[in-house]
Amino acid sequence: MAESVELPNRLAILPFRNKVLLPGAIIRIRCTSPSSVKLVEQELWQREEKGLIGILPVRDATETTSVGPTLSPGVATDSGEGSSKIHLGTSDSHKFDGKNQQEFIHWHTRGVAARALHLSRGVEKPSGRVTYIVVLEGLCRFSVQELSTRGTYYTARIASADMTKAEMEQVEQDPDFIVLSRQFKATAMELISLLEQKQKTGARTKVLLETVPVHKLADIFVASFEISFEEQLSMLDSVDVKVRISKATELVDRHLQSIRVAEKITQKVEGQLSKTQKEFFLRQQMRAIKEELGDNDDDEDDVAALERKMEGAGMPPDIWKHAQRELRRLKKMQPQQPGYGSSRVYLELLADLPWQKASEELELDLRAARERLDSDHYGLVKVKQRIIEYLAVRKLKPEARGPVLCFVGPPGVGKTSLASSIAAALGRKFVRISLGGVKDEADIRGHRRTYIGSMPGRLIDGLKRAAICNPVMLLDEIDKTGSDVRGDPASALLEVLDPEQNKTFNDHYLNVPFDLSKVVFVATANRVQPIPPALLDRMEVIELPGYTPEEKLRIAMRHLIPRVLDQHGLNAEYLQIPEAMVKLVIQRYTREAGVRNLERNLASLARAAAVRVAEQEHSLPLTKDVHHLGSPLLESRLADGGEVEMEVIPMGVSNHEISTAFRVSSPFVVDEAMLEKILGPPRYDDKETAERVSSPGVSVGLVWTAFGGEVQFVEATAMVGKGDLHLTGQLGDVIKESAQIALTWVRSRAAELKLASTEGVNLLEGRDVHIHFPAGAVPKDGPSAGVTLVTSLVSLFSQRRVRADTAMTGEMTLRGLVLPVGGIKDKVLAAHRYGIKRVILPERNLKDLVEVPSTVLGNLEILLAKRMEDVLEHAFEGGCPWRQHSKL
Ligand code: ADP
Repeated sequence: MAESVELPNRLAILPFRNKVLLPGAIIRIRCTSPSSVKLVEQELWQREEKGLIGILPVRDATETTSVGPTLSPGVATDSGEGSSKIHLGTSDSHKFDGKNQQEFIHWHTRGVAARALHLSRGVEKPSGRVTYIVVLEGLCRFSVQELSTRGTYYTARIASADMTKAEMEQVEQDPDFIVLSRQFKATAMELISLLEQKQKTGARTKVLLETVPVHKLADIFVASFEISFEEQLSMLDSVDVKVRISKATELVDRHLQSIRVAEKITQKVEGQLSKTQKEFFLRQQMRAIKEELGDNDDDEDDVAALERKMEGAGMPPDIWKHAQRELRRLKKMQPQQPGYGSSRVYLELLADLPWQKASEELELDLRAARERLDSDHYGLVKVKQRIIEYLAVRKLKPEARGPVLCFVGPPGVGKTSLASSIAAALGRKFVRISLGGVKDEADIRGHRRTYIGSMPGRLIDGLKRAAICNPVMLLDEIDKTGSDVRGDPASALLEVLDPEQNKTFNDHYLNVPFDLSKVVFVATANRVQPIPPALLDRMEVIELPGYTPEEKLRIAMRHLIPRVLDQHGLNAEYLQIPEAMVKLVIQRYTREAGVRNLERNLASLARAAAVRVAEQEHSLPLTKDVHHLGSPLLESRLADGGEVEMEVIPMGVSNHEISTAFRVSSPFVVDEAMLEKILGPPRYDDKETAERVSSPGVSVGLVWTAFGGEVQFVEATAMVGKGDLHLTGQLGDVIKESAQIALTWVRSRAAELKLASTEGVNLLEGRDVHIHFPAGAVPKDGPSAGVTLVTSLVSLFSQRRVRADTAMTGEMTLRGLVLPVGGIKDKVLAAHRYGIKRVILPERNLKDLVEVPSTVLGNLEILLAKRMEDVLEHAFEGGCPWRQHSKL
């Protein structure tokens, strides 16, 4: 700090608006106005030895109160420097004709001479305006005698306003001054100690207190407080050091008091922090600690998010109350606590379930629905008609509870895809729930939450997945549910399908009722028999028999091949499967009622073709493109440093587009050799039956399984024994009894059938009979093998071969009557598939033939039997020669 300053007569004046720079204070200012920039440039920047400038407070004219003397600008010209001169005036305000043209400015008559401690120059972008940042230190007071302008800034003739050295020395002897000084120092010390306690930064200030004269200290202290402009002015005007010190003491004391009061208030407020605030702080701390430990799973936020989700779930009031209760419980728990996890999962389920969210009911367009069914499925005329009827009723009376449609048929006949077409026609989501192998009631209804690992049942789970309350829900393989000690899933399904009960479906896990009434249920089954009658009663069965080879061919050509090609990114330009080849695939590689294996085989062909197309396309387009680009072009681009342009096939284009991007010269046409190469040697041929029945004792039966109709061979053989009957091939009780009946009937008719020379001969004398049903691993049961068993036994005992082109089905009574059986349509289709030409059926099954497609019937000879003899007559080459001897 400068001890004594030689003040020049004239100082360039920098006006400070509503602010005072006191001696001893250091201030950093940014000069941007043209006049101040000019001043800094000329008075400070361009001078080798940095001079002094005067800081003069000015007051806005709007502030009317005036403290101390003010200057009013005049218009005289400073002759020496060619600048305008401003005289001291007495009035409070004058219009000033300068930069701030329209403003009235009050110049204070006292200012402080200041020295620049630091200067930096900057250029603003983009205007190019020059600015300065100046650090100024206030040095000593001066009073203005005359104010004038120099160019764009002011100058003033000044005189020092500080006491001279002699005057100072005199004052220092003044007892008043001594008392005042002591008082000031004591107060200042107190302030420093207080600040020291709080911030521990008082040491330097304490040194100041001992080394700097009191009248300067007074300025320094006051300069560091935030006091009003008026107080600052009055401090500046305190030229008399006694006045200055006493004012400063007052201000320091006031500052001290205000710090004390603020401290008291803080203590009081802290004491009054409420419990919740404390908890809040503690939680914040806990979170910080967790974060530090990397343990931050933000449980609290999660719970809040869960709560929000629950609020938006649209739960009915009762359930909302229940959910809130559970949520309150959750909030009280720690995440580590047992039960927290399960409680959360439960609430998540409640929040996720579509209590009200439904997909918009489209105005059902029956014509569009019909078109969609037709475009998705070949044939199935009756089935489609029934579906259209069903949809029509829904359209007319949406709230009507129509029966639940149940598609019954062998695998791969299109049950699932029909159900999904229904969903598409109704514009609803489609959810498939597989019931195959469900033996536990809890699979449908869920486990109670008291069990560890408990879950909701499949229905609730399906609805959660669908996220809407009115999907089309497919109960797949409803015939495959069984019951055991763990309850009866069928009874739970009964509740689901009953329109009266499913409004309040009770899932054990959920433990609150859920309304299933808006769900459209559709079921599928392979067979009707295993479905419990009560359940069957709620459903309308729509049978989908297997397809004839011709139908399969049409389905393959129209639906399966285009779909398979598309799935493999191919089209007809790459792979062509001629009709003849599809026929071969149907005959030699598949023997099924539906088209699932057919689709699989076609997919194998497509895969093989895809590999070859992919291999070809590698070489083709690349070589072409390189030629096109030409090396000079490439080189020049690289030389320029430019990037080589690349053509990128956008992702997400359909397979079709990709395949057209790589065009090959000619498509692959599947031929027989390719079939064998890709699919292997043929699996089935028409010779199988002939080979199997080449020895006596084998007959061809037609049975009905979950896979539709099947051809079932029955083999009988005799060996030395004690007259026992052995049965093998995983047979059920009914079929075993049929075998007994067959043997009894043959034995009792041995003579008539010319199996024994005389009456009363025991056919089993010294020998056992063994009957086997091949495909020994597949369980078999049912009465319809009766006629086949008899035929095989007659063939065995007569040593005559059964016709290889003839298959049969029918139940037989002990007296030889042939009774009707079920599944005629499927059985006839199966016979046709196997290349069988003649089918022996019970006479009373004649009516069932209406359902068999005429194309199939046209290829078959149907032989009707009333009695066992009729069967035998048809089964053997040249008829049954023993018949005329029969007494029956
Ligand atoms: P399911 O449910 O009866 O076992 P899917 O519905 O899964 O059979 O059908 C198997 C495949 O066969 C599906 O790709 C389906 O589209 C097709 N499919 C079955 N029947 C037809 C048909 N009549 N027309 C067109 N495609 C069919």
